Amino acid sequence: MAPRKLAAGNWKMNGDLATLAQINAMAGAVRGASCDVLICPPALLVPALVAKGVVRVGGQDCHAEASGAHTGDISAAMLRDAGATHVILGHSERRADHHETDDVVRAKARAAHQAGLVAIICLGETGDQRDAGQTLEVIAAQLAGSVPEGATAANTVIAYEPVWAIGTGRTPTTGQIAEVHARLRADLSARLPDGAEVSLLYGGSVKGANAAEIFAIPHVDGALVGGASLTAGDFLPIVTALD
Ligand code: PEP
Repeated sequence: MAPRKLAAGNWKMNGDLATLAQINAMAGAVRGASCDVLICPPALLVPALVAKGVVRVGGQDCHAEASGAHTGDISAAMLRDAGATHVILGHSERRADHHETDDVVRAKARAAHQAGLVAIICLGETGDQRDAGQTLEVIAAQLAGSVPEGATAANTVIAYEPVWAIGTGRTPTTGQIAEVHARLRADLSARLPDGAEVSLLYGGSVKGANAAEIFAIPHVDGALVGGASLTAGDFLPIVTALD
């Protein structure tokens, strides 16, 4: 089976109840789309977004434990209970701001799987690592360290997000994206029985104007979109390009 196509939006720490009106404007296009469409809002908005019944809804992080004395955290089971289907893990902002290592991301992904969530595991090189010619080495190590045992195409999505391309308006060349996605596909196929079917997303300054070119790259099965997922006007052209 071919990997599922997924257009995923990461609202980060943006949005409020009023922002959810953007979802109403997406309803017609999303219902007719053959690709999966996911929005990951701040956790407080998950129930209200689920209630709209327009898009799939995901969290932006979860704790590795199912419950306990972890003030301020939420668990994968709580996200699932609120109606989420996915959770973003290991985003470079969490790896940097919260010192999340591959071991931490792997433990969180295991928790997501146990709760019945699809784990969207993010990885990507910094600008310095790319300049030093270390990109493939870095992403291969992050993949090996962040994907838990028990991962399958049904419960895991990989998002390649070069740190230097996130929120900067800069994107890698199509050749650079192709090289990384081919390596990710090869490593996943070697490691997982259904590794050829795991959806591989590209993320980093995707917008309507560059989406079609990016989606034409082999082994790019969709996108993880930050800034351009906040309004229907910016996000829908990306969904349409993927569909
Ligand atoms: C992201 O944060 O995952 C992202 C890809 O952001 P942007 O699309 O704004 O570069």
